Amino acid sequence: MYRLPVSKLEVDLRFPTGREELLLLEARGNETCTALDLLARLAEFAGDASVRGLPVADMEYLLLALRRLVLGESILSVVRCPQPGCRAQIDVDFPIGEYCAHHKPAAAPDAEQDGEGWYRLRGEAVRFRLPLGSDQEAALRGGDAERELIARCVEPAQASRGALRRVERAIARMAPLLSQELSGKCPECGVAVRMYLDVQSFVLQELRSQALGLYEEVGRLAKAFHWPEESILAMPAHRRMVYSDLAAGSGRLE
Ligand SMILES: [Zn+2]
Repeated sequence: MYRLPVSKLEVDLRFPTGREELLLLEARGNETCTALDLLARLAEFAGDASVRGLPVADMEYLLLALRRLVLGESILSVVRCPQPGCRAQIDVDFPIGEYCAHHKPAAAPDAEQDGEGWYRLRGEAVRFRLPLGSDQEAALRGGDAERELIARCVEPAQASRGALRRVERAIARMAPLLSQELSGKCPECGVAVRMYLDVQSFVLQELRSQALGLYEEVGRLAKAFHWPEESILAMPAHRRMVYSDLAAGSGRLE
């Protein structure tokens, strides 16, 4: 059971089956929509909540929790040193739990509660709410995502730039995104190195790579055991892989 950092909702995550892997491999829409569809299939809330109704920060938390469930705690990535004379390969390696603990929500001194789910900037007639997964999804459908997001989450939408910056800062404190710039030093030349972790694209990409063997495994199991595609896709992915190894390794099944 996970307790989401911003909404404080309790949620369980199911292990993906071939059906969810198929969704990842065959999705053609925008990636936010795919991520929400995927989480909607796997998340089981204690009450009547939905993935699309979660603040974006909680959605990112759930994506990292799913990544941990399927592929483990440690995030490994390789970046190249930007220094032209160096270009060394730098291993980036950090545990998901620790990373999430570093980006916990905090109070925003600049904002006060103003009704259910809404906040008001102190000393200003500007209200806002936290952007939800459904807001982000809708914003990406239009031409100007930022304007659409403001229209949905800020009142009045024509607030001054200064007020919008204050809203942004308050939201970044109350519901900090886990997509952040990471910084470190090149171990070879000592130059500062930055990389941007985009949680959604990172997790979807990793899960897609993990699912690449799906068609081959389904084909192998259908041939070896004569199970219909539907039953094979309904298995948790790790069990399907065990059967697939069995079918591949033993001539007796041919
Ligand atoms: Zn370097």
